[in-house]
Amino acid sequence: MKPLTVVSNRLPVTVGETIEKSSGGMVAALEGLGENADFQWIGWAGGAVKDPDRKKEIASELKERFNYTPIFLSRKDADDYYTGFSNSSLWPLLHYMPTKARYEERWFDAYRRVNRLFADTVLEKTGEDDIVWIQDYHLMLLPAMLREKRPKMTIGYFLHTPFPSYEIFRCHPDREELLEGLLGADLIGFHTFGYLRHFRSTVLRLLGIESEFNVIHTDTHQTAIGVFPIGINAEKFLEGMKTEAYREAKNTLQRANTGKKVVLSVERLDYTKGVPRRLDAIERFLNETGRTDVSFIFVCVPSRESVPEYQELRRSVELKVSRINGKHSALGEIPVHFIHRQVAFEELCALYCLADVATVTPLMDGMNLVAKEYLLCQQEEPGALVLSEFAGAAQELNNAYVVNPYNVKEISNALQLALDASEKEKRQRLEPMKQRVAKYDARFWAQSFLDSLSDLPRETPEPTEIRPLSAEGLHPSLAGKNAALFLDYDGTLAELKKRPVDAAPVGEVEEILSLLDRQEDLDVYLVGGRARRDMDRWFSKYRFHLVAEHGYCVKEKDAEDWVVLTPEADLSWKDQILDFLELYAGMTPGSFLEEKTASVVWHYAGADPEFGAWKAQQLVSSLQEMLSNLPVQIHHGKKIVEIASVHANKGAAVSYFMTKYRYEAVLCAGDDETDEAMFRLSDDRLRSAKVGAGETAAAFRCPSPKAFRAFLHALLTSYSTGG
Ligand code: UDP
Repeated sequence: MKPLTVVSNRLPVTVGETIEKSSGGMVAALEGLGENADFQWIGWAGGAVKDPDRKKEIASELKERFNYTPIFLSRKDADDYYTGFSNSSLWPLLHYMPTKARYEERWFDAYRRVNRLFADTVLEKTGEDDIVWIQDYHLMLLPAMLREKRPKMTIGYFLHTPFPSYEIFRCHPDREELLEGLLGADLIGFHTFGYLRHFRSTVLRLLGIESEFNVIHTDTHQTAIGVFPIGINAEKFLEGMKTEAYREAKNTLQRANTGKKVVLSVERLDYTKGVPRRLDAIERFLNETGRTDVSFIFVCVPSRESVPEYQELRRSVELKVSRINGKHSALGEIPVHFIHRQVAFEELCALYCLADVATVTPLMDGMNLVAKEYLLCQQEEPGALVLSEFAGAAQELNNAYVVNPYNVKEISNALQLALDASEKEKRQRLEPMKQRVAKYDARFWAQSFLDSLSDLPRETPEPTEIRPLSAEGLHPSLAGKNAALFLDYDGTLAELKKRPVDAAPVGEVEEILSLLDRQEDLDVYLVGGRARRDMDRWFSKYRFHLVAEHGYCVKEKDAEDWVVLTPEADLSWKDQILDFLELYAGMTPGSFLEEKTASVVWHYAGADPEFGAWKAQQLVSSLQEMLSNLPVQIHHGKKIVEIASVHANKGAAVSYFMTKYRYEAVLCAGDDETDEAMFRLSDDRLRSAKVGAGETAAAFRCPSPKAFRAFLHALLTSYSTGG
């Protein structure tokens, strides 16, 4: 296997006087990878170490003991990048809580700066052939930063939080840059299909990039997306349950809870975890049942205490706990035990093992490992799990008592059911879930992600008969001959734009047109789908032959007027469909109609992308029925549906000119279905090139309009130098 570098916000260590290995949710999952010989980890060492000598000491100890490389952050960067941008801006939004999200511009500056610092360190510590696996929402910009410097590097990214619906993600001021950052990866992993679905739709709606089922193609690169639900470090828990410390903790707990049923909650004290509502449900449960035989243990690990929302949460939880206890305690009996600190690992195992019920009711949670850990630790009496449907884990653990965490009554009822369930029922629910958790553990998760990353096709395989377009390759077949170029404009010479008017020739496009214009010994045809007036407006200043409306009419370079190549064509069908198309345009906001002489085009690039595509499919199938006996062709192209006379045909136009001027060599280039009519001409003198992806009859392919312009530039330069 290639060398592997894991990159995460924090290294799994606590650096104080000494350096201690720590283990949180994600960290546990990655621990198994440490056995790989070529494995390193890059991340922030925590805190803000100032002293350069101490930094050196820490770095060398981390390197020696674990092969870890620390990133050191200043206090200000840690505040702005971590507490600010990551935890106060991104975290709430990713968990569907936009009202809790705060934003400062300087936070994003720091986020960018720190991601850049990570990028520099990764580049320094890795080679071109390494695999880099980036973890979580703190480093969303890192994939693209690495991709820019190392186009061929294998980059994986895993998001440990939910990815929210577009309607939520769109609230973020830096939404596009964050998405573009992620798309630098070769593979992006999510816990559930729901998160993946939201990501695809957000990329489509914010960046206008369509995706296939599991791949997103950008101009330069493709990103696979996949679902990899994280598991727990099962082995570690099973080992923990064999220790003396575990036995002691279990005995203490048993003694303290004799005659009681134990209901357990374990989490970081985070507003996503649904603690206040769970407490409301417990209060309701106690009010309704009056039971005194249940002990509720809350382990709430302090978290992000410098963020005001977390301080507020702590206050509200403490208030609720004391209210419940005030009302329901008796001498020597307290219903809710609130432990506001981290517990020792063996104690945690003992709590998991002894608890009759675990209540895991987050309002939103990427996965939730506590639910899985609890199930695995049910090695003696079977317990029951009350689980929020909003935890990623609910996708896998459907034998739990699944609840809506916003519904206090439902949680309270589920609690009663779980507490009163027979041993048989509990075992029936528990066993399949426990087996699943044991089998699909952290190691399985990491390995399956890395296997998928390694198995990705590095380059899109081209059918062997379609060759890449190259100036050197093509030059000999054109040089010194009576030659012509037939070039499509939109999507071939110029990038497609949402609104056709925005594709006017400027910048690089204008430069290449000027260069084409200067070719004395080449005839250049611009073969467009556009109306005559558009072609005139943009191209009449050049010495090009113009072909408009996909070959329906032409204007030769020295001619004054346009000539219709097939004047006998029947166009009466246009009147039959115009009203119908107007209706469609009206019902699809953002879309519009364009009428040409021999065709009508419905443009829907400005419409909502999914709604537009849906309406387009409806339109095409209605038109196919309506127009089946008429001399028209229906073309569903890139964000357009065009209904054109069968006589508007680029292939026919090319043939016409090839015969008229007896060209000895011709190159046709285009990007869509209408250009295939040129490519399909069978003539030895003709070379054809498709710009962009997709099936084609062309012999050559070029990836993008930008690359095609570069090709033309090289070809024309060798022409003019006679090379
Ligand atoms: N945990 C811990 N010490 C504690 C309580 C919990 O190490 O005192 C661990 C727990 O075993 C679990 C992790 O913290 O692995 C919490 O992960 P989870 O996915 O449930 O939530 P997160 O905190 O990542 O949002």
